[in-house]
Amino acid sequence: MAYSIAVLPGDGIGPEIAAEAVKLIEALSEFGFEARIETGLIGGAAVDATGDPLPPETIALCDAADAILLAAVGGPKYDRLPRAQRPETGLLRLRAQYGFFANLRPALLYPELAEASSLKAEKVAGLDLLIVRELTGGIYFGQPRGIFTGEDGERYAVNTQRYSESEIRRIVRVAFEAARRRGRRVCSVDKANVLEVSELWREVVEAVHADYPDVELSHMLVDNAAMQLVREPKQFDVVVTGNLFGDILSDIAAMLTGSIGMLPSASLRSDAKGLYEPVHGSAPDIAGQGVANPLATLLSVAMMLRHSFDREDLAARIERAVGRVLADGLRCRDIARPGETVVGTVEMGEAVRRALHEVD
Ligand code: NAD
Repeated sequence: MAYSIAVLPGDGIGPEIAAEAVKLIEALSEFGFEARIETGLIGGAAVDATGDPLPPETIALCDAADAILLAAVGGPKYDRLPRAQRPETGLLRLRAQYGFFANLRPALLYPELAEASSLKAEKVAGLDLLIVRELTGGIYFGQPRGIFTGEDGERYAVNTQRYSESEIRRIVRVAFEAARRRGRRVCSVDKANVLEVSELWREVVEAVHADYPDVELSHMLVDNAAMQLVREPKQFDVVVTGNLFGDILSDIAAMLTGSIGMLPSASLRSDAKGLYEPVHGSAPDIAGQGVANPLATLLSVAMMLRHSFDREDLAARIERAVGRVLADGLRCRDIARPGETVVGTVEMGEAVRRALHEVD
């Protein structure tokens, strides 16, 4: 059976890196993975063509797809548009449309790129951690919220941190399942010494853990987690946390790798459907030059195979192929140091496809 994948190239470097992702998916047919790929408009490209950053045709395409791959949206040309027409609004609507509540952001540092990190190479070489962030609940969505004026005439503001047991249960399950495919360790991050929400969070995490006796569980307060991430990041395997803490910790983890052109992400829900995208944006400063690093997008394809199509074998093959290409010394401009071989977007994509056959 051929799977259906919606590819949304978007803006800036988006079309260039999406093209390499499409070629990679097509190359996987040699390894027994058949997919029907349909391309749709999103972001500025969609605004130019239809006036809407997420037109109904794109939603219909994504409805019908088993998984969605998005490259990047945005650009200076669209910065002055009303909010509803901004490219980023299209992306936010897409995420909301399908209730993707689990955001998975691996921070993986290939040993060859350790010098790119802001931390000492020995602290991060071989780093491989996964942040699982709750994406549709918590303080970003809780009611009541707003800025009010009190009886004394002073203004005050309110946001509400709220999590139900079922919301906690489903994100924690995603983390335990992910840990089973990796190092079998989950660290749950909260602020249980201060917040009732975290008290409930911890209780539910413990209860869900009973179903995963093969996975080691630890708890860590968020302030300590932030410190540990920059002190000894390799102690972590899977980190699971709420929306607010996850927002901050996933950016810290991303920066440990020092190379934004390398980082993939997945946004998932309880069935296999998912949205896969590189962490970086549309890089308008280098768009159209053929120099963008396609690896974050190719690694997002690997996450798609792992999480939407249950093809761990092919996901791992792509990741090993990327490792092989880096070990061979090939670099895009963003990850190159003086003296290294710099290749463009197309050559890098080609090299990864070739390496698929060289790794086992
Ligand atoms: P950016 O990630 O696009 O670029 C930051 C820097 O990293 C730039 O110097 C860029 O050249 C470089 N870079 C990024 N990806 C690269 C790659 N694959 N290869 C080589 N170099 C790469 O962030 P920004 O400049 O703050 O934002 C540019 C536009 O992208 C804005 O319109 C912003 O709103 C949008 N954006 C979109 C997303 C998304 O689509 N998910 C995420 C972040 C920003």
